[in-house]
Amino acid sequence: MDAATTLYTSERIAAVRASTAAAGIDALVITPGAELRYLTGYDAHASERLTALVVPAEGPATLIVPRLERPLAASSPLPGTGVGIVDFGDGVNPYALLASFLDEHVGSGRRVIGAAERMWASHWHGIEAAVPSASLAMAATVLSPLRMVKSAAEVAELTRAAEAIDRVHTRMGEWLRPGRTEREVAADIKAAIVEEGHTAVSFAIVAAGPNGASPHHGVSDAVIESGQPVVVDIGGVVDTGYGSDCTRTYCVGQTPADFNDYYGALRAAHQAGVDAVRPGVTASSVDAATRAVLTDAGYGEFFTHRTGHGIGLDGHEAPYIVDGDDTVLAPGMAFSIEPGVYIPGRHGARIEDIVVCTETGVTRLDTLPTEVTIL
Ligand code: ZN
Ligand code: ZN
Repeated sequence: MDAATTLYTSERIAAVRASTAAAGIDALVITPGAELRYLTGYDAHASERLTALVVPAEGPATLIVPRLERPLAASSPLPGTGVGIVDFGDGVNPYALLASFLDEHVGSGRRVIGAAERMWASHWHGIEAAVPSASLAMAATVLSPLRMVKSAAEVAELTRAAEAIDRVHTRMGEWLRPGRTEREVAADIKAAIVEEGHTAVSFAIVAAGPNGASPHHGVSDAVIESGQPVVVDIGGVVDTGYGSDCTRTYCVGQTPADFNDYYGALRAAHQAGVDAVRPGVTASSVDAATRAVLTDAGYGEFFTHRTGHGIGLDGHEAPYIVDGDDTVLAPGMAFSIEPGVYIPGRHGARIEDIVVCTETGVTRLDTLPTEVTIL
């Protein structure tokens, strides 16, 4: 079987339908995004024309799609999931089409619609106008608990992505040199992200010296100097849509003494986070285990973000490894462990791997050493 057949199944739609009914939602209306891809394999682009998968709690799931994009939908894995396709021509009101479909399969009374997490407001406005008494619920209430637990086929895709991004990190010495700008280095990294097996670049952070103290720095025209630690956080997606996300910290030349002071504690915190992952513990407990190491070492105030985030068809998705997220970890959950230390005006460091909770503990999908790499 090819990847699409094992990733996108009619069983998944059936499970979603059952959860939709149990949540008291009459129908899910899913516009383009990770939720649509999760349900059907169709990687649609969002636009002013309505594309919407309608999943009644009882009744057939159907994709409403602009006529000119029907061939795209038909050639995606969607037909293999048993979802039907209805198209409409330009000039036709697709919201009226949606309303008549709901009348037929849900009834014409009060309708609770579970809307896609990132549905454009213009589409929700159109639905509200065409479906009297439509009341808004979040499809994520139904989909997020299912999406959190990855199937074996999904873990295989995340592993493929992780192996590809690890290969990019091992090539860092080809590009990261004093005298080059962060932007120049990032351009080379982006090319390598595709060369090593991704179909698209998601992001490339190259943060040298003081810029490393800003966790989501991105890139700038700053010239990398000898003796500066450089945080490199990179990710892409493979052809099936699953993502990678891996951070290592490098130094061209010798690391500064005040960097050495905290880097060992950061490595220990990362290891403590990985070691804390097993079925039955909460996401927040993994954050606490990671954070405690840095707090005990005196660097707690410099670890300014959560420990991690889930990953799948979205780069950031549930569960969140953060204080207050009491999701109980279960086999198949995939997320990052990414503690960092950020010293304003000086430098920073982060170590990030994607891990999967297993029946007995944890598997790291990114497998590079965590020592700072001296180039
Ligand atoms: Zn990252
Ligand atoms: Zn991340």
